[in-house]
Amino acid sequence: MIPPRFDHVAPTTLEEALAVLGQHGDDAKVLSGGQSLIPLLKLRLAAPAVLVDINRIPGLDRLEEADGVLRIGALVRESALESADLVRRRYPILMDTAHVIADPLVRNMATVCGNLAHGDPANDHPATMLALEAEVVARSAAGERVIPVTQFFTGVFATALRPDEILTEIRVPAPAPRSGGAYLKLERKVGDFATAAVAAQVTLAEDGTVVRAGVGLTNVGPTPIKALQTEAFLAGKPLDDATTREAGRLAAEEARPTADRRGSVEYKRDLVRVFTMRALRRARDRAEGRAATASAERAYATAGGR
Ligand SMILES: Cc1cc2nc3c(=O)[nH]c(=O)nc-3n(C[C@H](O)[C@H](O)[C@H](O)COP(=O)(O)OP(=O)(O)OC[C@H]3O[C@@H](n4cnc5c(N)ncnc54)[C@H](O)[C@@H]3O)c2cc1C
Repeated sequence: MIPPRFDHVAPTTLEEALAVLGQHGDDAKVLSGGQSLIPLLKLRLAAPAVLVDINRIPGLDRLEEADGVLRIGALVRESALESADLVRRRYPILMDTAHVIADPLVRNMATVCGNLAHGDPANDHPATMLALEAEVVARSAAGERVIPVTQFFTGVFATALRPDEILTEIRVPAPAPRSGGAYLKLERKVGDFATAAVAAQVTLAEDGTVVRAGVGLTNVGPTPIKALQTEAFLAGKPLDDATTREAGRLAAEEARPTADRRGSVEYKRDLVRVFTMRALRRARDRAEGRAATASAERAYATAGGR
């Protein structure tokens, strides 16, 4: 289908973009990578009068770590995240996540911030950002708000962003020593949205017990889910087989999947159980700086970690 008519505005400063958004309110939409918005327009599921294209605004493609925070600017594409040496070395969970989003063509355009702003519970970055306890920065003409990602996803395709705001940056806390994370996703074929996926990020004490655990779940509820009971259970425990097994059981309980063409409720819960165990093991291996065992690598690859 052909999209309905709209005006296309492509400002070259953030202030100008924010002024246009403030002027049009609900009638305007931010356009970044266009990988979700353009399909919605073509299906006529969205019909904004004005698209505020932020692609010509300089400085929004910043990806850098400073003062204990990784900053991911509004125009950082999935492909940039995936290929950044900093991300590979320090934030492998982000690389895992970017790597299983869609296909390389989509990843060349799609932005990480757009992945959150779209508010789709099937998108992959939300669960990872919940596990990492990231924050998002929302700018409007009136100023700046910093929103913990735990308060960002308010419903199906709904976020805490106001119509006059641009998500300018995601802030991810730099990992403490002995931290590691992993994202595992099952997709029916390459490029598909998740049947279910699990993000796990852990920080370990010298004796191997969990100082902090973050667990996020993709596409098993109306919003991405932070598995709070699982996280609380993990704190202070050694990440041995008994602990990861129980964590898997708890995460499956916290999932709220519905049946669809990707699978039944029982199937999706069981995926969450198994992937939570595998993601925690992978996170532990990375936290300990150990190469994963051959069998763990095989399980990881089988699970879609590639
Ligand atoms: C074939 C295909 C397969 C896909 N597979 C996956 C997948 O496996 N996993 C996955 O997670 N996603 C997948 N997607 C979805 C897509 O990758 C994300 O939703 C996309 O990254 C959104 O980012 P964008 O920059 O393209 O946003 P856009 O499409 O430009 O915008 C999406 C929405 O977010 C808003 N928005 C965007 N940026 C901002 C901002 N900075 N501030 C405020 N609002 C903003 C827009 O107004 C719009 O409402 C797929 C898409 C396609 C086309």
